[in-house]
Amino acid sequence: MKTILFTFLAIVTSAWYLALSATTFPPDSALPWIIRQEGMYLTGLLSIALMSLTMLLSVRPLWLEKPLGGLDRIYRLHKWSGILAVGFGASHWLLKLSSDIIKPLIGSAGRLPKIKYEGLLEVLRKLGNDMGEWALYAALAMLVFTLWRRFPYHLWRHLHRIMPVLYLMLAFHAAMLAPPAYWAQPVGALMAVFFVIGVIASIISLAGMIGRRRQVNGSVLSVNSEGDVTEITCQLDEPWQAHRPGQFAFITFDRIEGAHPFTIASADRGEQTITFFIKALGDFTQKLAQRVKAGQTVMIEGPYGRFQLAVNQPDSRQIWVAGGIGITPFLAWLESLQARPEEAREADLHYCTRNRESDPFVGRLQKLCAALPGIRLSIHSAKHGDVLTAGALRLAEGQKKKADVWFCGPSGLADALKKSLKDSWSGRLRFHQEAFEMR
Ligand SMILES: Cc1cc2nc3c(=O)[nH]c(=O)nc-3n(C[C@H](O)[C@H](O)[C@H](O)COP(=O)(O)OP(=O)(O)OC[C@H]3O[C@@H](n4cnc5c(N)ncnc54)[C@H](O)[C@@H]3O)c2cc1C
Repeated sequence: MKTILFTFLAIVTSAWYLALSATTFPPDSALPWIIRQEGMYLTGLLSIALMSLTMLLSVRPLWLEKPLGGLDRIYRLHKWSGILAVGFGASHWLLKLSSDIIKPLIGSAGRLPKIKYEGLLEVLRKLGNDMGEWALYAALAMLVFTLWRRFPYHLWRHLHRIMPVLYLMLAFHAAMLAPPAYWAQPVGALMAVFFVIGVIASIISLAGMIGRRRQVNGSVLSVNSEGDVTEITCQLDEPWQAHRPGQFAFITFDRIEGAHPFTIASADRGEQTITFFIKALGDFTQKLAQRVKAGQTVMIEGPYGRFQLAVNQPDSRQIWVAGGIGITPFLAWLESLQARPEEAREADLHYCTRNRESDPFVGRLQKLCAALPGIRLSIHSAKHGDVLTAGALRLAEGQKKKADVWFCGPSGLADALKKSLKDSWSGRLRFHQEAFEMR
């Protein structure tokens, strides 16, 4: 993700630099005023470019799943490009305000002349200026709500719907206030591409068309609860694009509540039924077992994601690690292998739970793994003092020099394992992680 963002920023900065190289400033211009103006152009450009990227990623572009590694990663990139966009927007605004510091220090004499507009263009430019300011205030407020983890997710989601409107206001601001000379240079072409992408994505979002082609209706077949986990099986009314084990879908039980993402924990048997295991983790999921009844209609959108069983890497050791509800993609993997056990690779599956005795998945896992001799199941029960460490995973290092760790679970555990393994693993190690968080 860092490489993608860095490359993106480097391309946009290079386009700005080309434009800067072609600019001739009046001979009496003072350097602080030049820095202020060019700084404003650069930060404004970076902000709108990142905002356009954020908008593109928000429409769940399937064609980006492969290069970016799945929709969960697309959302992570969406989040960070959005945060950076607002950050550059704030710097742009601070640079604008910096005239109040520069003027008393060096005076207005070396200030760059303002570009003159007339008639309708001047009216639109002023409108663009005001729009940009108000949209930036709103985007800054949105950033605070995004980073403030205690702000309820369902409220945040509704507020977040304003983003395409803010984007359109910011794009109008950028188009009206960019220097006219930009439009005859590569930077202008780049901006035009960003505007087209961002405006189309905003329209798709405002028209409620995100993921529409992947939505199918269905009904709840059964609801079973065990502890804080609810198993829900749905029957789909319309043909479902076959899902691969480990993929997830957005499920809507109630239009006002909206869609929530859950891993499809069952293998695709062509019967158009899919099963989810849902843990009570927040306000909606805590009431789910009481609210959802067999026979009720649902809408399912998907499948998405690339947390997929690797069948074609015979030279790499497979280490699968699940924490709590993060076991769901592995359940789908194991279930799909029941029909073709000959395809089952050797793998070490580590399942971390609070208490193996009350855990709803332990029995199911043991049953699924019993039919797959290559899969070595280890249950780590915190209550019994068995906590998974990187040391336990290193025991699997063996002869093979390559290893693939597939992880789904709490990000704290992932970070600790990743760091410790990267420091100590002697061969080549790839860490694949399904993120259960989109905000
Ligand atoms: C790819 C993926 C696969 C997942 N698979 C499973 C699974 O198999 N089983 C399971 O129990 N949980 C799964 N989750 C997590 C599940 O989506 C959240 O626990 C659930 O949406 C929480 O909703 P809430 O209103 O009860 O909680 P809240 O307290 O409102 O939210 C808790 C957190 O859940 C996330 N969340 C809440 N609502 C949404 C939403 N509409 N869209 C996206 N994220 C949301 C946010 O990160 C939020 O901070 C998965 C998440 C992702 C991203």
